[in-house]
Amino acid sequence: MSLQNPTLVLNCGSSSIKYALISEDGETRIEGLAEALGNADARIKHKNLDGSKVEINIPNSGAHTEALKIILGELIGEYKPVAVGHRVVHGGDKFTKATKINAEVLAHIEELASLAPLHNPANAAGIKAINELFPQLPQVAIFDTAFHQTMPAHAYRYAIPKALYEEHHIRRYGFHGTSHAYVSNRASQLTTKDGKHGWIVAHLGNGCSATAVYDGQSLDTSMGITPLEGLMMGTRSGDVDPSLHALLNRTLGLSIGEIDTLLNKQSGLLGVSGISNDMRNLEQADKDGNQDATLALDMFAYRVAKYILGYTAALPELTGVVFTGGIGENGAEMRAKIVTHLKHLGAKFDTAKNAQLFRGAEGSFHTADSALEFWVIPTDEEYQIAKETKEVLGL
Ligand code: AMP
Repeated sequence: MSLQNPTLVLNCGSSSIKYALISEDGETRIEGLAEALGNADARIKHKNLDGSKVEINIPNSGAHTEALKIILGELIGEYKPVAVGHRVVHGGDKFTKATKINAEVLAHIEELASLAPLHNPANAAGIKAINELFPQLPQVAIFDTAFHQTMPAHAYRYAIPKALYEEHHIRRYGFHGTSHAYVSNRASQLTTKDGKHGWIVAHLGNGCSATAVYDGQSLDTSMGITPLEGLMMGTRSGDVDPSLHALLNRTLGLSIGEIDTLLNKQSGLLGVSGISNDMRNLEQADKDGNQDATLALDMFAYRVAKYILGYTAALPELTGVVFTGGIGENGAEMRAKIVTHLKHLGAKFDTAKNAQLFRGAEGSFHTADSALEFWVIPTDEEYQIAKETKEVLGL
């Protein structure tokens, strides 16, 4: 195992930094997580190259800078990263691809905080910390939204007055782009079918989104101007009647902020089941006879299937469906429930093959006579970010 000319991948949240150091050939990596930054119990959980684990406390950490100093110093300093790739959540319509960071790019990322107030400021803080500590390291921003910039206008526009789009950039952007890019590309490598491929990718984790990808380009995706639109998620409602805001305000006196919290943090699997946002807990509760859990699972599957069927309209041809994310990669029961709704497409799946795909396994579970393919592909956003970082820098 060696870590030749590695790229450092950073995913900076408001109080956390997820990091991975990935070798030139993409085969070897070191990873870790700094969490509770800014709090007294701030710590870094680090996994060495040999798999051994270290935990370092960083009390009084001044958020990102202090943690990055330790990560790039004592934890990975000896491997000398050649570049840093940052996950940046919102690239608006300014950034259509991964972009080398300079002062102007950083300023745009900060401006886009108007569209992603929780994420972009934290992403920018990580970039500034690297600028301060290691100004010689080239940095690249990989935007969650960029992959979806190929969507046609009929998919990305909302049916609202056009001035809101032209003057205020109100449109659908989509997220999870790095995951959809990696997984759809990988599916095209794995299929034995020749020619151009049309995939519907279901990224099902705590956050969920579906994307129609044709010949490597996103043609439609289920998240919108924020990551609330689309599928039912762990705690997010996904699609609701937009008049719900007005109705809840009028009838229950809830404020805009309260409704936003309700739809983002108290809805989805958690809201419907009243038990948990975790698929595993709901599957257990369902087996124990809890009807709210059963309904939450039925709704989740039905809504994913509706999006898959809807996205057949986006694609010139359909090769198959790809499942990824914690639920997509591990939840064989949920996959079976979703795929069962797709019988009108001529979809047939192999129950035994489906049941064997979990915990990092990559493979297909369609039958030989199925009209479309079904794949489970574990997502690897870190790999994709490192790959795009090197491409942008010509490394
Ligand atoms: P992620 O956000 O991608 O980490 O995915 C988290 C979701 O994956 C949670 O709802 C978990 O319950 C779900 N998950 C993880 N393992 C399993 C499993 N074996 N079966 C079903 N769901 C799972």
